Amino acid sequence: MDDCIFCKIVKGQMGTKFEKETENLVVFKDINPQAAIHLLVVPKKHIKDMSEAENILWNEIKDVAVSIARAKALSGFRIVHNVGDASVISHMHVHFLGDVTSDRAV
Ligand code: 5GP
Ligand code: ZN
Repeated sequence: MDDCIFCKIVKGQMGTKFEKETENLVVFKDINPQAAIHLLVVPKKHIKDMSEAENILWNEIKDVAVSIARAKALSGFRIVHNVGDASVISHMHVHFLGDVTSDRAV
C-alpha cells in the first residue's frame, strides 16, 4: 500500500527506530503515547486488522509482548487492538501499554 504510513515505517522509509523486529513484526513507539511505555506491534505485511490476520500471527504477537515485558522488567502491561471503524490507521497494529497496573487511567 503506497499511501500507508505504517507500510512506509515498516520499510524503513520514515527513519523510525524499531524497538524489536521479528520475522513478521516490527515494534516501534507510538507517536502520541497514552502510557509510560506505549509501543505499537505491527505486522510487516499490510493487512487491515485481526479480521485478515492468520491465527499464527497472534502467537508471534504474544511472544513479542511477553519478551518486551520481560526485557523491561514490567510488572504489568495492557494490549489493545482496534478493529474496523474503531481504528484510525488501517494497517493492523496492536497497542502495547507498559507499566500499567489495575488502577490504570487508560
Ligand atoms: P488506532 O488506529 O488504533 O486508533 O491508533 C493509531 C495509533 O497510531 C495512534 O495511537 C497514533 O498515535 C499512532 N500513530 C499515528 N501515526 C503515527 C506515526 O506516524 N508514527 C507513529 N509512531 N505512531 C503513529
Ligand atoms: Zn500498510
